[in-house]
Amino acid sequence: MANVRVAVRVRPLSKRETKEGGKIIVEVDDKVAKVRNVKVSSRPESFGDTREKVVAFGFDYCYWSVNPEDPHYASQEVVFQDLGTEVLSGAAKGYNICLFAYGQTGSGKTYTMLGTPVSISTDFLEIYNERVRDLLKRSNQNKSYGLRVREHPELGPYVQGLSQHVVTNYQQVLRLLEEGIANRITAATHVHEASSRSHAIFTIHYTQAVLQNNLPSETASKINLVDLAGSERADPSYCKDRITEGANINKSLVTLGIVISALAQNSQVFSSCQSLSSAASSGGDSGVPSTTSGTSSGGGPVRRQSYIPYRDSVLTWLLKESLGGNSRTIMVATVSPAHTSYSETMSTLRYASSAK
Ligand code: ADP
Ligand code: MG
Repeated sequence: MANVRVAVRVRPLSKRETKEGGKIIVEVDDKVAKVRNVKVSSRPESFGDTREKVVAFGFDYCYWSVNPEDPHYASQEVVFQDLGTEVLSGAAKGYNICLFAYGQTGSGKTYTMLGTPVSISTDFLEIYNERVRDLLKRSNQNKSYGLRVREHPELGPYVQGLSQHVVTNYQQVLRLLEEGIANRITAATHVHEASSRSHAIFTIHYTQAVLQNNLPSETASKINLVDLAGSERADPSYCKDRITEGANINKSLVTLGIVISALAQNSQVFSSCQSLSSAASSGGDSGVPSTTSGTSSGGGPVRRQSYIPYRDSVLTWLLKESLGGNSRTIMVATVSPAHTSYSETMSTLRYASSAK
């Protein structure tokens, strides 16, 4: 299985989009998503202008969830069949998993993430303006964004004092997810009244008993469900707080894109390195030479990306051990089908297809 999988999902037209006369400009066909740019102008002189441009993007999965009556309609079950199965089978093999939902506010990120059932122990945190908060803390202490991110020499980055919750069934997972979601910060933006301006990471710690050299042992893997902040640009006319917030969201989404595409390149370069030379050095158990300089490998024919900027954002820092190396990454890009979201949809699909 490839280290990075990318899917796109198109949600139904919202009530508002329907009321505004939203036209559907996105279509999917197996592994291709197409966007039509229909010139729709309110100016009478351009009425009837039918010039249109179609741009196509290729993905691993394309989900059409626009109309439940459509035979190609991708329900939560269909999406879970593909992505949930990849998540759970990867975790069962001992891989750490990241499943990201990326897209404009209101495009279906949270809806898609909630459709993924799991088990064992969990924690839930929120990153807002590069600061971390526990979404499942029951006591009144430590409810603010003051949690410290530290880095363990072997286990990697973690949030100090984050509460852990043991779960034994799916209902408990759902209750914790709902509790955490209710605690998430929301602030009004021009796009949505209750837009999410923060990233939320729900982590499932999955531990299995295994036999190693005939001795009982354990393998631990993590499943990270990452509900990203809306990808739409922050309106520069907003107040100072909102601008900082937008810059931080932008920084973490840009860093995430850089990290994922660097890792996708490295995994290709790595497989060709290994086939060229069995003495290819591996960068420890991360499998990624995050500190090697690009010139140290004796000038072979394959260039490898030497530096992966995990620490440029709290989001990528915390997910460092779950991105690249012994891990699997899945990105679901969620989009509105409406013509009114043309530029957001194009930028979401461009971002997602460059993550490959
Ligand atoms: P986001 O988290 O990206 O801001 P939401 O997940 O909250 O967006 O979705 C916005 C609205 O659209 C919600 O009312 C949700 O129920 C609805 N929605 C999103 N995706 C789908 C889908 N695939 N099928 C049906 N409804 C959806
Ligand atoms: Mg959301």
